Amino acid sequence: MPRDSRFDILFEPVKIGPVTAKNRFYQVPHCTGLGWLRPRMVAALRGMKAEGGWGVVCTEYCSIHPASDDLPHPSASLWDETDIKANALMTESVHEHGALAGVELWFGGSRTANSLTRAVPMDVDSVPNLVGDPYQTRAMDKEDIRALRKWHRDAALRARTAGFDIVYVYATHGYLLSNFLSSVNNTRTDAYGGSLENRVRLIREIIEETKDAVGDTCAVAVRFSADEGVGVDGAPARSERREMFEILAELPDLWDINIADYSYEMGSSRFVKEGALEPYMAFVKSATSKPVVTVGRFTSPETMVSQVKRGIIDFIGAARPSIADPFLPRKIAEGRIEDIRECIDCNICYAGDGKGVPIRCTQNPTMGEEWRRGWHPEKIAPKGSNARVLIVGAGPAGLEAARALGLRGYDVVLAEANRELGGRVTAECRLPGLSEWARVRDYRVQQIAAMTNVEIYRESKLGAEDVLAVAADHVAVATGAKWRRDGFGRFHPTGMADPGPAERIFTPDDIMAGRLPEGRVLVFDDDHYYMGAIIAERLVAEGLSVILATPGHMVAAWSVFTVEQARTQKRLIELGVEIVTTHGLSAFDGREAELACALTGRSQRVAADAVVMVTARRPNDALYRELSEKMAAAAKGAPRTLRRIGDAEAPAIIAAAIYAGHRYARELDAPGDVNSRVPRDRLFEEAI
Ligand code: ADP
Ligand code: SF4
Repeated sequence: MPRDSRFDILFEPVKIGPVTAKNRFYQVPHCTGLGWLRPRMVAALRGMKAEGGWGVVCTEYCSIHPASDDLPHPSASLWDETDIKANALMTESVHEHGALAGVELWFGGSRTANSLTRAVPMDVDSVPNLVGDPYQTRAMDKEDIRALRKWHRDAALRARTAGFDIVYVYATHGYLLSNFLSSVNNTRTDAYGGSLENRVRLIREIIEETKDAVGDTCAVAVRFSADEGVGVDGAPARSERREMFEILAELPDLWDINIADYSYEMGSSRFVKEGALEPYMAFVKSATSKPVVTVGRFTSPETMVSQVKRGIIDFIGAARPSIADPFLPRKIAEGRIEDIRECIDCNICYAGDGKGVPIRCTQNPTMGEEWRRGWHPEKIAPKGSNARVLIVGAGPAGLEAARALGLRGYDVVLAEANRELGGRVTAECRLPGLSEWARVRDYRVQQIAAMTNVEIYRESKLGAEDVLAVAADHVAVATGAKWRRDGFGRFHPTGMADPGPAERIFTPDDIMAGRLPEGRVLVFDDDHYYMGAIIAERLVAEGLSVILATPGHMVAAWSVFTVEQARTQKRLIELGVEIVTTHGLSAFDGREAELACALTGRSQRVAADAVVMVTARRPNDALYRELSEKMAAAAKGAPRTLRRIGDAEAPAIIAAAIYAGHRYARELDAPGDVNSRVPRDRLFEEAI
């Protein structure tokens, strides 16, 4: 299909100082959990974005010197020669597809503990480490400032040698340069503190020095916050921001604008909707003649065009939309809007960096596997045989397996017990704030609908005999999992012998199916991710009085990694949910629950008419086990291979089920033992 002419504006080239981007699609710097530790994986990942049509592709935050080291979060780095070689892999793969490569030079200050290099961290003053490590920084003196400026300049020169086209000065997100700008954090009394002019001085010097060093060939971009600090969502607290911006407005070649509250800027769809930064951007374009980029979780080309036409931005900045669909620009260019795999904003991609492990994505199972497994988000090997494949269960695992196998050309039968497809996604997307999660199902159902080789049977709950009757060559059991009622989990490793009166015990499956408790409800959250808190929210919406007890030290502890924890706990507090941390449910009699302290074992009693157990799930693997026996007995119609995938194998996050379905499809009929070797990226110590 030809491109819709309404979107032509998105494909105009835009000049950025000495370089020109071929279009307005700009992958802003984003973490991958790869950084300097996994250079080949990075190069392949960024190259894939370029292949997918992004006009600019940037690194993650890139350390300029060993005095800024963020392990266990793997940033990129440009410390020396070996780093130049590693980064050159990335710039080459980006250039191969006609995109510009950008590097976000970074110095962490009080947000880094320098755990690897053991350099003493430094910042505006001697302040406590801002991410909780028991260190303080050294207050930077004149020598330190001189050194920092030289390190930045040297890193910019190395960036140019590595082939970068855009070099950043990074002055946001609580890192060193933003602390110099801050009227609160910058308590200095020298030429770099006090007046606004003084606080802007270091950034101004660094912009000028970067331009002087590499400005003839590279564009200089500045990442800058359009507001002052954490305030009310959507209502910018600008204070002196505009004034600062005006001092610097014409110095760089490009402005990359974001906001101070990271949990809003990259908030999950539970808390923040598309284009949320627009109110913050209002003054920016009118105060500079330079091109401007910002993010907003843009997946709709209409929104993108509107933002450009209304003069809010020049570039469509994206991190997550480019992760969920590296081919988003190409799909718009080719008039294939319906093929866009829209981000659901679950922030699982960000969790990789938080945990210091490679990125993964709920929607895009190939993310992070471009180099390691050679997976391409849009291409897949043709089928290896004429086999027929039966997939039982149309949750995320089954749907993705069917989609990818269908793409390979296999004859696929997908059987689903329910009328609605989507499994847990269909159930969960009806919970408060999770509506965008339906995209996981909708993208796949829509793709499969166009395939003549994939047959879907709804309302078809298959037993072992039904499966044998299909006589498929291969069977994948993707029957999911059910939440347990017996309290089994981390707090009760063998379950509760007597969890209480059965009719007063509920699970998230009950709540999602509309079977609701009455009276005062205790949500026992030993799952520690989103489900416990969202069930509490759902029950409050029903007018119930809710207590949430968790053995964790905070509500939804794992959602720290998805930047949701603070907002989750705040929301529950605001909704009036009574929160009891470091306590697990030890007994329940239908009127009272006993909560045991996870630290001391001391117990307290609370009134509760019902309990919702959010502790662990049990795989629905009975069908798989029955079929295994049939296969062992060589029953008529038994498949050649039988696999269980997704939650039916091991309950986990939705991203894991999508990955399992995809991997199953990729590896069907693959020669050899695909599990025998998982290639590991390795560092460059010497020459490549
Ligand atoms: P996953 O996350 O692994 O994809 P889900 O729980 O989301 O798992 O989906 C499992 C799907 O399998 C559900 O839609 C469920 O209705 C379906 N299912 C379970 N057992 C059967 C069965 N015996 N026959 C057909 N469909 C089944
Ligand atoms: Fe979007 Fe979730 Fe994928 Fe991140 S992991 S890109 S938030 S779908």
